[in-house]
Amino acid sequence: MIKLQQQRNSKPSLEARIASVERVIFDLDRTVSVLIENIAKYSPSMCEEKHDIQMKDAIWYCTNCKSKCGVIDRSSDEIRIRYKDHIVYCVVGKGGHIKTPCRRCSYMNELKVDV
Ligand SMILES: [Zn+2]
Repeated sequence: MIKLQQQRNSKPSLEARIASVERVIFDLDRTVSVLIENIAKYSPSMCEEKHDIQMKDAIWYCTNCKSKCGVIDRSSDEIRIRYKDHIVYCVVGKGGHIKTPCRRCSYMNELKVDV
């Protein structure tokens, strides 16, 4: 019994460590997205000249926490979302919509299709 308690307290499980790393990576991704957005907003010339990070696509942010939900290519009306087993609900065509829960705060974000 004592040995079991020592093992539990001595080292976090692999799953816990992976979850911790995933949280850190998610927060870093969000921080980088905000930094890129601010650089583009306040120093657009710096982006164009030195880093060429201007993106032609728009970013779809969570209505609640401003975390990134996906990317919108306005030239093709394509929405790209990528993250592990992330869930997206789509109704295509006129009057359709796309819904996805925020990966950070679980707020259900929705985009309406205007055709
Ligand atoms: Zn959110």
